[in-house]
Amino acid sequence: MSDARGPLALARDAVARGERTAESITREALAAINRQEPSLCAFTAVATEQALAQAVAVDQARARGAALGPLAGVPIAVKDNISTRGVATTAGSKVLAGYVPPYDATVITKLAAAGAIVIGKTNCDEFAMGSSTENSAYGVTANPWALDRAPGGSSGGSAATVAARAVPASLGSDTGGSIRQPAAFCGIVGLKPTYGRVSRFGLLAFASSLDQIGPLAITVDDAAAVLSVIAGHDGHDATSAAEAVPDWTGVATAAADARGLRIGVPRAFIEGVDPAVAQAFEAALATWTRLGATVVDIALPNAGLAIPVYYLIATAEASSNLARYDGARYGYRTTLTPKDSLREMYERTRDEGFGAEVKRRIMLGTYVLSAGYYDAYYLKAQQVRAKVRDDYAAAFATVDVVATPTTPTAAFKLGEKTADPLQMYLADIFTVSANLAGVPALSLPCGFSPEGLPIGCQLTARMWDEGTLIRAGTALQQATDWHMRTPSGVTP
Ligand code: GLN
Repeated sequence: MSDARGPLALARDAVARGERTAESITREALAAINRQEPSLCAFTAVATEQALAQAVAVDQARARGAALGPLAGVPIAVKDNISTRGVATTAGSKVLAGYVPPYDATVITKLAAAGAIVIGKTNCDEFAMGSSTENSAYGVTANPWALDRAPGGSSGGSAATVAARAVPASLGSDTGGSIRQPAAFCGIVGLKPTYGRVSRFGLLAFASSLDQIGPLAITVDDAAAVLSVIAGHDGHDATSAAEAVPDWTGVATAAADARGLRIGVPRAFIEGVDPAVAQAFEAALATWTRLGATVVDIALPNAGLAIPVYYLIATAEASSNLARYDGARYGYRTTLTPKDSLREMYERTRDEGFGAEVKRRIMLGTYVLSAGYYDAYYLKAQQVRAKVRDDYAAAFATVDVVATPTTPTAAFKLGEKTADPLQMYLADIFTVSANLAGVPALSLPCGFSPEGLPIGCQLTARMWDEGTLIRAGTALQQATDWHMRTPSGVTP
């Protein structure tokens, strides 16, 4: 039994009560990052000066007696595909080497207004394409639980640094599982909000109809605290919704239970997962049942089609979104000679600037959008996407959440899947459907494999019903202590 506050709540409360300064918390986080970086490679940039300046500003505000924001003095690491004014933003790509955005993403503006300290940018698969953080131009991130294992991806740096207890929380982006899958591999919490809940303004687009920014943290309550700050309508993002933003942070202050919660489990779909994953998942279901929930069998008949549908839609959108990286406007440009044509500049810049996985997806996406194949691939994929969405609508007519393992296995070895993109794509079998349907989904720790690797459990809820995910997740965390274990691979 554990009802301890998470690291974010502890830091926030210590600053609010004057027990600690934001500066000392920030210095401690910077020291941990710098100590761990040689083994983890979780960051593409550490914003030392800017973070310390933000921290000093929080301490000065407190000294003046000014009201503090809900994240005052809390260091937050930010995935490197989220624009930060004055701090290099590369999305893990050589094509953006040296690019320093002239503006902040909306989530960064909101974090700053809440008093959070943006401590640095985290390593990720190039343009968030991948499941292992091995597709970055800036090195491979390691899993703090076992340095020879993948931290998951694409938000691997964001997950690794939180799991290593260097920072209390981070932001990731999730197009097909990139928050939840690394959260599961690293033994922490990851929340993909409802599509439209969080502004994508300033997020370097991968697949615009699927991308969402969300938090990674140790406790569900800490993740909820970040979500409460970054959520909300934004005039800069036409797809951000006007939906009211509840304050989800109160949930953990009371003892949470799961009374009345109906949990649907798509048994046929999750058959065949690794035995340790199945065992940990069943134990989580048993805990929720003990806390008052009912578990029922449901079907998601089209879930098996989600991976091919996702890779058609995501690559189509990516091929269009990535057309802007041409060497003309910003980022990397090939070395030009006087006899080079404009076309040669485009071609060589993109050839030298993009990595293999990004090129593979641009080609695939261009192909499925081409005149002769559009109906057979892209249009068909959109039709099946609607069916995946209908499956959830049917399920949510009888249950409040759908539960599955987050991933079929615990963290795989670095290098194990790099030679076979299809194997890598299958790591997302349980996560991509939520993006296709637009529904919110939460991954939280539910056990360990015999090798001592974390295992994650995923809950998916109705559109805008993050509240139910947060209540159910908090209930599980109050009844278990999986999330309190710390990785052995690094010194916190
Ligand atoms: N791993 C999936 C992919 O490679 C999902 C990535 C993501 O969510 N950004 O596309």
